[in-house]
Amino acid sequence: MNENIYSQHQLSMWKDCPKRYYFQYIKNINWLEPLSESNIIGNNLHNLMYYYLNDHKIDHLLKDADPKIIELWQTCLNLEMLSKQPLATEYKFLTRLADTNYWLQGRVDAFFYDKAKNKYIIADWKTGKSLPKNLDNNFQCLFYLYSMHKSQKYLNLSFAEEDLEFQFIKISDNTEIKSLSFSKEQSVEYEQTMLNVINNIVNTYDFVRNPGQKCKSCKFEAICG
Ligand code: SF4
Repeated sequence: MNENIYSQHQLSMWKDCPKRYYFQYIKNINWLEPLSESNIIGNNLHNLMYYYLNDHKIDHLLKDADPKIIELWQTCLNLEMLSKQPLATEYKFLTRLADTNYWLQGRVDAFFYDKAKNKYIIADWKTGKSLPKNLDNNFQCLFYLYSMHKSQKYLNLSFAEEDLEFQFIKISDNTEIKSLSFSKEQSVEYEQTMLNVINNIVNTYDFVRNPGQKCKSCKFEAICG
């Protein structure tokens, strides 16, 4: 792992539990875990969406697909977002945090331009878990909003923070969309928040446990002690 590059997952894990971060990113303890059915469906739908938005043929992929995937794909085709202009799909960013030596990395499912609203939209397809109740101050959304605003030059675009929006789009029998807009003030605030988190990580030698609800789904529970 490059020590100066951080993903949203890393920073969120640190905020949730420094000990978990220690196991995952300092000790690099990893083992293969079987994919759940919802993981497999999610991966398939993400791939279909990528091919569709890049004008690849997908009929042959759908021919023998699981009926659940075919059903959810029909839901996808009705999404209003697909009428917008796709600017990038599965877009990997690597962007500098302020003028520090730290970099933020990640991948957005799709990036659209909504001409009618003059908005640039980060689309995040969700197929499994329910959406967060409240997106205000949602760390994932703000990490991506900040990073995509900083990445605009790599996409040959020019837009203000206020022109950017993040959307969670839940693909299910009951499609649900939640969005969060952005502002210059939030950009300044979250730049500092991310810098504080990274400085804490870099300067910590004692990765303390933070037991709570998340322990139930933590793969390190058996060795956490
Ligand atoms: S089991 Fe709980 S306290 Fe231990 S590392 Fe995992 S999340 Fe942290």
